[in-house]
Amino acid sequence: MSKVLELTKELISKKSVTPDDAGCQSIISSRLEKVGFSVVNLKYGDVDNLWATYGDSGPIFAFLGHTDVVPTGPLEDWESDPFIATDKDSLLVGRGAADMKGSVAAFVTSIEEFLAEEPTLSGRIAVLLTSDEEGPAVDGVTKVVDYLEEKNEKIEWCLVGEPTADNSVGDVIKIGRRGSVSAKIIVKGTQGHVAYPEKASNPIHNFSSSLAEISKLSWADETGKFQDSVLQISNLNSGTGATNVIPGSLELSLNVRHSPSTAVQQIKDDVESIINKYNVECEVLWEVGGKPFLTTQEELISAVKSSIKEVTGSEPKCTTDGGTSDGRFIAPTGSQVVELGPGNASIHKVNESVKKEDLEELHKIYKTILSKLLTNL
Ligand SMILES: [Zn+2]
Repeated sequence: MSKVLELTKELISKKSVTPDDAGCQSIISSRLEKVGFSVVNLKYGDVDNLWATYGDSGPIFAFLGHTDVVPTGPLEDWESDPFIATDKDSLLVGRGAADMKGSVAAFVTSIEEFLAEEPTLSGRIAVLLTSDEEGPAVDGVTKVVDYLEEKNEKIEWCLVGEPTADNSVGDVIKIGRRGSVSAKIIVKGTQGHVAYPEKASNPIHNFSSSLAEISKLSWADETGKFQDSVLQISNLNSGTGATNVIPGSLELSLNVRHSPSTAVQQIKDDVESIINKYNVECEVLWEVGGKPFLTTQEELISAVKSSIKEVTGSEPKCTTDGGTSDGRFIAPTGSQVVELGPGNASIHKVNESVKKEDLEELHKIYKTILSKLLTNL
């Protein structure tokens, strides 16, 4: 068995359901220490984070990943034990196989093989891991970024191992991510009997015109790299269940995934001006989930693209769709951030799997990227 598959299997056997690292990071630490890395363990709350570096000077290339996984869901729906990596034809099945223990294993094995060739480096290699990516992401990468800022360390190039491929590894990379902003709207009314509407105030009726307009809101992307930003209503609750009662309140949640050309303030202003126009009494509570980012510098993107081309023979598509990732914490420090990992079709599902070939290729692509960015010729 290849080293990358072997290490992936070992990591899958650790029950690291978020935020529990369950010993994954110590396996990785000892592998990295063996090839000359210095390792710092940063524990915040229940969350284990690891910052490992190799080399003394020059720009930092960092692999960014997470060791935590999402819960398994009903065990009886799994065809095999989610925490025993199981071979099934061309696939390796297990929780975290694709998201993202396979990539983390490929970080390690590509570094080991690269350093064994004894290149003279023009920069440094870092590995940043957290056990809080799938959870609230409060004590994870964002705290490590604070730590690095204190130490005056800056990541120049950041490769995130999140699963990005549609069909086979290298067909899609992400060069940015949309931001996420949510709001909870509580509309106040006065409860009463439906037969006496003059003695009540119906929040469903009162809010219906605002709702119709809010649900049509969208903002055009001007970067040319993102989808347009669209508002989605995710929850709408009102009513007592009885057919003869006018409800006393209505609650609604909405979310917007937005491109960097739409500011959060713009979204807030547009939603609130609709509400104000109809003079509805309500409370609006906003929450910013993640900021958008877009890598515009070509250095890392072109190193990744040409490495993929060398290994797989094809050109990747550069996209910015999907959910948020921990790259959102690194990008604001001025780093170039690109995401490249295995296929994402089964992530978070029961019987999560990864193509074994994806991991072999990922190992080779990561190693090629290291040599393109860091080898001193
Ligand atoms: Zn992930």
